[in-house]
Amino acid sequence: MGFAAVTGVISEATRTRDLIAQVGRSLFDRGLTPGSSGNISVRLSDGSMLMTPTGASLGRLDPARLSHLDARCNHLSGDKPTKEAFLHSCMYCRRKDAGAVVHLHSTHAVAVSMLAGVDAADVLPPLTAYYVMRVGRLPLIPYHAPGDRDLALAVDAQAERNHAVLLANHGPVVAGASLLDAQYAMEELEETARLFLLLGDRLIRPLTPDQADALRGP
Ligand code: ZN
Repeated sequence: MGFAAVTGVISEATRTRDLIAQVGRSLFDRGLTPGSSGNISVRLSDGSMLMTPTGASLGRLDPARLSHLDARCNHLSGDKPTKEAFLHSCMYCRRKDAGAVVHLHSTHAVAVSMLAGVDAADVLPPLTAYYVMRVGRLPLIPYHAPGDRDLALAVDAQAERNHAVLLANHGPVVAGASLLDAQYAMEELEETARLFLLLGDRLIRPLTPDQADALRGP
């Protein structure tokens, strides 16, 4: 590998580290994930991943201390990765187009993840065109206790067909082609969950199946 290629990789990693810290801070400052909850990862062009460390608050990430993992999730450098790293690797394994994954404990999406009687195949109705275009379908993954490795299998089973999933009594996981794509899809999901709760028991008029299908494309 020549010098230019090496510096190219370094600058991509440096830019990405700064962007992860910036996005983390923005999400945290707007109250989208409290305390040290939530995690972010980006897949670099060489297949390795940068990921937020275990116990780190998204509001105060140090770009230099982010975890660097190889494509098989082996820890290469930086602080130890989040204990929820497997949520990210499930998305990357099943979705070749995924360049970033965001997982939050955002209040309204978590509240929706606790509702009984929702459609587990697609938790939120297609309330707006932007929700359908950015999120599409949102399957509910059954509750698993923290550390239960079966959660990885359950996410893995949905990841190929869905870039967004909602973990019951826990929170959403969203993959995107870029970190900004994943961030915006996550924000659309959280906003739609908020609208859904705001509407409550009122009769609602979501998009029709035809309208939603037209937005999802072929
Ligand atoms: Zn979590």
